[in-house]
Amino acid sequence: MPESSSGLDDKQRARLAARIDAKRDDLIALTQDLIRIPTVNPPGDAYQPCCEYLGRRLARSGFAVEYLRAEGALGDSDRYPRTNIIARKEGRGPGPCVHFNSHIDVVEPGHGWTMDPFSGELRDGRIYGRGACDMKGGLAASIIAIEAILEEGIEFSGAIEISGTVDEESGGYAGVAWLAERGRFSPPRVDHVIIPEPLNKDCVCLGHRGVWWAEIIVSGRIAHGSMPFLGVSAIRGMAAFLAKVETELYPRLAQRRTAMPVIPDGARQSTLNFNGLHGGLPNPAPGEGFPSALVADRCSLVLDRRYLIEESEAEIRQEILDLLEAVQAERPEFDYTLRDLWSMPPTMTDADSPVVTALSREIEHFLGTPAHHVASPGTYDQKHIVRIGNLKDCVAYGPGLLELAHQPDEYVGVEDMLDAAKIMAAAALRLLARAP
Ligand SMILES: [Zn+2]
Repeated sequence: MPESSSGLDDKQRARLAARIDAKRDDLIALTQDLIRIPTVNPPGDAYQPCCEYLGRRLARSGFAVEYLRAEGALGDSDRYPRTNIIARKEGRGPGPCVHFNSHIDVVEPGHGWTMDPFSGELRDGRIYGRGACDMKGGLAASIIAIEAILEEGIEFSGAIEISGTVDEESGGYAGVAWLAERGRFSPPRVDHVIIPEPLNKDCVCLGHRGVWWAEIIVSGRIAHGSMPFLGVSAIRGMAAFLAKVETELYPRLAQRRTAMPVIPDGARQSTLNFNGLHGGLPNPAPGEGFPSALVADRCSLVLDRRYLIEESEAEIRQEILDLLEAVQAERPEFDYTLRDLWSMPPTMTDADSPVVTALSREIEHFLGTPAHHVASPGTYDQKHIVRIGNLKDCVAYGPGLLELAHQPDEYVGVEDMLDAAKIMAAAALRLLARAP
């Protein structure tokens, strides 16, 4: 057992890397097998068989396997059980626990594929399929990484865990959040977490921006459409608000740059999106006839505000309220309500924390380039680990390109997975070698 904080000496590191390279075909087959289990969410299909597949494999590799169904959690039913898996391999003695957490759910394939999205086709060194990069490729790479450590007979103190969790694509409430509430992502059980999301093999993702979703409802007064002056149009009221957002808020948001290293660059500021807007009666379908001649007495808007570590939810909420109040000052009949739908604060792990340092050093070693520290524009399961598990030493690191996630013809490169597996394995040993 190497006692230095670098975990491995150069000879051991080279042997471990060679072992991972020799597992190339195994890595490909494992990734393909995972893609062929269509864990589409919603509704949350095939979670059970996917966990059982992982459990069989990890048990063979010497892990103690637990299946944890989030009974009664959001989305859980007998038809679509929210089954998670946690596999744990104890080391030789007491020490820290390094945990690799991957979500097993994938989004629906959608249109535009040039091949079967669940075939796991291998073409020119790339494995294609829904979930290839987001994130079954990362899950497979982490399994190969740890199996290589075990096969090499490298001894370690502490423990290594690998989990496959559900529903990340729909908030993670029956997955990581549920497990975190039960202490599965907190010390002393777990000390360091790596989430192999596809952020690219040379990037360590420190965290993500915050999010606030809300609905604004403008109420008006109904009247005959031929005499709109007798009513109050909720649509015109909403339009007045949107005009203020366009001329006052958007320019302000564009100025607000963050110290968070968010990628892509366009997301390195505050952003605001409108998910949906509707006013008045439903629009008639073709052939359905004419709509009624009515002044719209209701108009609703759902907004998605992504915010920065330098901002607070109270501030960004107030910013919207101020605009609504400004409209009201100009239009006495403007009547609105604001309803909060969902929010999550931003999170960012320190760039000099143990998990970031371990991954960065190994990226430098294996890729010969300095690691890029990045942050994600959107949230992922790190939020639950930090907030519920109160575990700060958590990042995302994994193979694949974020831009390919949720796209048709999603793929992950085999070479990238092998590189990431080497970096994960060596980084895990570095963390395990740390004094508890
Ligand atoms: Zn993902």
